[in-house]
Amino acid sequence: MLPVIALVGRPNVGKSTLFNRLTRTRDALVADFPGLTRDRKYGQAKIEELEYLVIDTGGIHGDEEGIDAEMANQSLQAIDEADAILFLVDARTGVNASDQAIAQHLRMQNKQVFLVANKTDGIDADSAIADFYSLALGEVHPIAAAQGRGVNVLIELALKPF
Ligand code: GDP
Ligand code: MG
Repeated sequence: MLPVIALVGRPNVGKSTLFNRLTRTRDALVADFPGLTRDRKYGQAKIEELEYLVIDTGGIHGDEEGIDAEMANQSLQAIDEADAILFLVDARTGVNASDQAIAQHLRMQNKQVFLVANKTDGIDADSAIADFYSLALGEVHPIAAAQGRGVNVLIELALKPF
């Protein structure tokens, strides 16, 4: 069985963009429309000869329903299937209520969670990520999925146990 990395986070934070970069496919739907990717999507990826699986999820909607209802969907299953979880947040918008609800759930999981601040291209990454330490998930890892910045270092870290 290959190691599995799940990409979770509210809609529009860049999960599918990261998925496509890691798997080098255009299969996951990337769009400006929040929540467009509705089902879990699996892709195979490779770093330094290590093969692994990536799961893209449609996103957890932390605002319109209770977090319990949201978690009873495919994102919860993806978390369950994963060896490591990349929890994506948007460095440009800062922390919102959805991020807080998801973080609360992830803190209760007995899984390796990496808090990833995406879209740090063209902004001051240090000041943008400071806000996210309030989510109490430890280190904040800045990336720019669209350009690939910070991505390999992050994946190597997540797959270190393998
Ligand atoms: P998802 O809903 O979490 O899967 O998010 P998407 O991958 O569909 O991306 C949502 C939007 O954010 C799209 O317009 C992307 O082009 C944009 N986006 C994704 N990654 C980056 C990034 O690293 N930098 C910037 N500036 N935009 C990004
Ligand atoms: Mg998506």
